[in-house]
Amino acid sequence: MENKTAIITGAGRGIGRQIAIRLAEDGFNCALNDLNETDLAETKAMIDKYGVKCVTYKADVSSYEEVENMIKSISDDFATVDVLVNNAGITRDSLLMRMKEEDWDKVININLKSVYNMTKSVSKIMMKQRQGRIISIASVVGVIGNAGQCNYSASKAGIIGFTKSIARELGSRGITANAIAPGYIQTEMTEHLPEDAKQKLSSQIPLGFLGTPEHIASCVSFLAGKDSSYITGQVIHVDGGMAM
Ligand code: NAD
Repeated sequence: MENKTAIITGAGRGIGRQIAIRLAEDGFNCALNDLNETDLAETKAMIDKYGVKCVTYKADVSSYEEVENMIKSISDDFATVDVLVNNAGITRDSLLMRMKEEDWDKVININLKSVYNMTKSVSKIMMKQRQGRIISIASVVGVIGNAGQCNYSASKAGIIGFTKSIARELGSRGITANAIAPGYIQTEMTEHLPEDAKQKLSSQIPLGFLGTPEHIASCVSFLAGKDSSYITGQVIHVDGGMAM
């Protein structure tokens, strides 16, 4: 695994942080992105003990220009770019009738346009290398929908369609593209859900318990590693059986 590099967006906390730690444990050098520099520095401190190279990049992944500049810096700082994990995401929940246009736009831009921005920029490098792994974090609600999350569900369903299309476009260049659809995972994103919504969600999990960022990081580790080289265009559900 020596010299391989992974880029992880939204690596400041939650699932992104855990993915970064797991890939560092696997021996990947890590290029960490987030908007929050303090959180990024904390993740970097956790990764440094694995002895891999780790550099942090503050950038808004919904901005095409900021992403282009960040990827330029990353390709100057690292010899190769082997894995891209599109993880950054937000929620702005409300029922359609109450949803403000800015909440629709913000969620679509940060969750979905970011995946276009990052993948377009990184796949240029991967195409030259003739190898790469693109892993995007979708959601169970992008598959089954959820009242109060039409913007978020649409962004995550968009990631799934995007992933299948680029898997077809980039397969002949040795690049795989897969999505992970997490279920209900314990992070700060879900911490603030109303108690009744938490109860309702939990009751829909056949395995009967909430997921952790480690569950998602294990799947990313598999998709980034050598054992998944013949898997592309797939959506892997890591949700305790919520969607089947
Ligand atoms: P989180 O809110 O804890 O972390 C998200 C991170 O993304 C934060 O560090 C935030 O600063 C960063 N971020 C937000 N906007 C950004 C931007 N414009 N540019 C760069 N970074 C930005 O969320 P989480 O629970 O760790 O979720 C991570 C991913 O997993 C998201 O895409 C989320 O939609 C998805 N997901 C989460 C769950 C869950 O139950 N927690 C379920 C399904 C999918």
